[in-house]
Amino acid sequence: MRIDLHCHSTASDGTDTPAELVRNAAAAGLDVVALTDHDTTRGYAEAVAALPAGLTLVTGAELSCRLDGVSMHMLAYLFDPEEPALFAERELVRDDRVPRAQGMVAKLRELGVPITWEQVARIAGDGSVGRPHVATALVELGVVPTVNDAFTGDWLADGARAYVPKHETDPFEALRLIKGAGGVAVFAHPAASKRGRTVPESAIAELAAAGLDGIEVDHMDHEPATRARLRGLAAELGLLATGSSDYHGSRKTCVLGEYTTDPEVYGEITRRATGAFPVPGAGGAGSGAGAGAGTRADV
Ligand code: AMP
Ligand code: ZN
Ligand code: FE
Ligand code: FE
Repeated sequence: MRIDLHCHSTASDGTDTPAELVRNAAAAGLDVVALTDHDTTRGYAEAVAALPAGLTLVTGAELSCRLDGVSMHMLAYLFDPEEPALFAERELVRDDRVPRAQGMVAKLRELGVPITWEQVARIAGDGSVGRPHVATALVELGVVPTVNDAFTGDWLADGARAYVPKHETDPFEALRLIKGAGGVAVFAHPAASKRGRTVPESAIAELAAAGLDGIEVDHMDHEPATRARLRGLAAELGLLATGSSDYHGSRKTCVLGEYTTDPEVYGEITRRATGAFPVPGAGGAGSGAGAGAGTRADV
């Protein structure tokens, strides 16, 4: 069983449509793939409809959080996408992403970059707009060679010249919301220090005491020594340890299934979830049941 529990589509800042993502996941030999777009469930229906036989879809989202001024991401799996409180919080974060991206465009223009909001809006399409879309505009303009090169102190890294913060949820509140919607919570890339400041281990312990289910251990932004330390911390705190690619299509270098989650850990996630069930691919015209078909979706 090959299980990849963290992937993005065009519903946020990935470059595969949800349909392309599930097809590519099957082609990559995955048995289970999670769709975890930033602050949105809008890709679910398309992914379910295109799900190939033999691939199971785990519905989820990556929620933008902030603790003591440090941005962090919380993966939420198999929650009820219609549960009103979590629905409203996702909407709040997504809505704030638009003026925030416009603010980054304004800062870049002050720095002499001829970027426009129209360009960023075109790149983002109907996905929740984020820094990777602004970074893609900078690549198009020849300001930086790659998306990664835009995440520096000169441009878009946390606190950089053109950075603007967005509304981010307190992670303890996020845990309450995820649990209230029947979901399972996994702290994404908790020690990805090249992205900016990370939270201390004491905070992970507090989150564990508040109901956190797991931490993402095997991730491209964690060095081998970091993974070993996090694996030990997970064991100590009784947390599940997951692994995943954080696939973003062509916007990042990682490939589907680059890191995977142990089947026993996956089984425990599905046992804990009460908000939604994994959707087995029927192949062809869509499997009908499960999260996606006919539900009130994020826009
Ligand atoms: P946003 O949610 O708009 O603040 O953008 C955050 C996203 O930007 C993350 O999910 C990553 O996809 C990407 N990102 C953040 N830091 C970096 C980095 N140092 N290098 C490349 N991508 C990054
Ligand atoms: Zn992203
Ligand atoms: Fe993330
Ligand atoms: Fe991610």
